[in-house]
Amino acid sequence: MKFTCEICVIGGGAVGKASALALAQAGHEVALLASDEPKATNPDHWDLRVYALNHGAQFLLSSLKVWDAMDQSRITPVDAMAIHGDDVGLGGHLGFDAYGARVGTLAWIVEDGNLNQALDSALRFAPGVKRLTSSAAALQIDADKATVTLDNGDTLGCSLIVGADGANSWVRGQADINIAYRSYNQNAVVANFECELPHHGTASQWFLGGDGIVALLPLPGNRVSLVWSAPEPLADNLLRGSPQALCDRLAQLPGMTLGQLQMLPPTQPRAFPLRLIRAQSPIANRIALVGDAAHVVHPLAGHGMNLGFGDIDALLAALARRDHPADCGDARTLGRYARLRKEEVLLMQLATDGLQRLFSTDLPPVRHLRNVGMGLVDRLPFLKRRLMSHAFGRAASLPTGESR
Ligand SMILES: Cc1cc2nc3c(=O)[nH]c(=O)nc-3n(C[C@H](O)[C@H](O)[C@H](O)COP(=O)(O)OP(=O)(O)OC[C@H]3O[C@@H](n4cnc5c(N)ncnc54)[C@H](O)[C@@H]3O)c2cc1C
Repeated sequence: MKFTCEICVIGGGAVGKASALALAQAGHEVALLASDEPKATNPDHWDLRVYALNHGAQFLLSSLKVWDAMDQSRITPVDAMAIHGDDVGLGGHLGFDAYGARVGTLAWIVEDGNLNQALDSALRFAPGVKRLTSSAAALQIDADKATVTLDNGDTLGCSLIVGADGANSWVRGQADINIAYRSYNQNAVVANFECELPHHGTASQWFLGGDGIVALLPLPGNRVSLVWSAPEPLADNLLRGSPQALCDRLAQLPGMTLGQLQMLPPTQPRAFPLRLIRAQSPIANRIALVGDAAHVVHPLAGHGMNLGFGDIDALLAALARRDHPADCGDARTLGRYARLRKEEVLLMQLATDGLQRLFSTDLPPVRHLRNVGMGLVDRLPFLKRRLMSHAFGRAASLPTGESR
């Protein structure tokens, strides 16, 4: 069969689904190519994949009517962040809170299943989106259109392809877009825990030098979600060890205030390889990349998904100003999209990569410098506010008189 539409989104992750919804809401006729059927979640379990979503992401999801469709009782506002260096004696501590950022909350912790279920429901009812459960198998780009051949032989003609197919993007490969790739030689070990003492809405992070970076993100009740970006051998040990060994190790972190921990089911942690992927360009002829297809960053700042949602905002803005209303894929529009994303994406890549390098070495002078530096930033409200407005998205406001 032959289908046609204006825009074809390839990839049914959260960024692909949100892209399809946003583009349809802006009046485009969209096809979403998702290789997986919507999945049911287990309401008795806490998802091992959780995201810290910032204000920009919350704003986008609200405008798509997805935010309110999520189970609100499973979303946790982050009211404060406590960042621990690896030498508290040198002042290695940094704290942020919603009051200092002049916002109601710094971010929200959202489970992957909660987010995807709300996106799937919205897609079921969205006018203007046709969801096809299929994978893209071939792509042909002509002067005036792009044609995707699906794995069942059907074809889909459109004026713009949105590549939302993740870190190993097939679309990116078809478009011959080169990437810069760096493995961090780390795996992110994730698991959830019940804790003895309340977290008070605080997300805590420990920079442990050669042992990597531990983040404990608040979940509803006295629960937390762990993301331990650990060097590969340590990650293997953490995965092979008993749940109790991991709990004991976490309970001994310096400045830990949660008391004893108990691992929640499923009691087998999972691990994700960590890498930096920089696409040479987020665009090609009739193609725009969004989400991890365009950029993969270290999760230490919890920003990959947020960046993906930022891509959607920028793509909408570029399309709204397109010169030829009938052609969503013209080169000037795509060039505008690339320019709109350049600064934020580069900044986030440099910041996360730089922090990862700065905190992964055990060299004494570097260790000294980073811990003193953290203490210094903690005592400079102006600099802290600047960092917060970048880290937590558009609503983390700067006071009057300070320009963005
Ligand atoms: C441990 C960890 C913690 C993280 N924490 C945070 C956080 O706190 N906050 C945050 O903002 N981000 C976080 N991130 C980053 C975030 O997970 C990613 O940026 C985000 O999931 C990327 O979404 P995506 O939709 O772009 O890609 P994906 O989720 O990878 O989706 C891509 C989709 O494309 C499909 N696909 C692939 N090829 C094809 C094809 N040929 N045809 C059709 N479909 C195809 C795949 O099946 C998949 O469904 C974290 C990442 C890790 C690893």
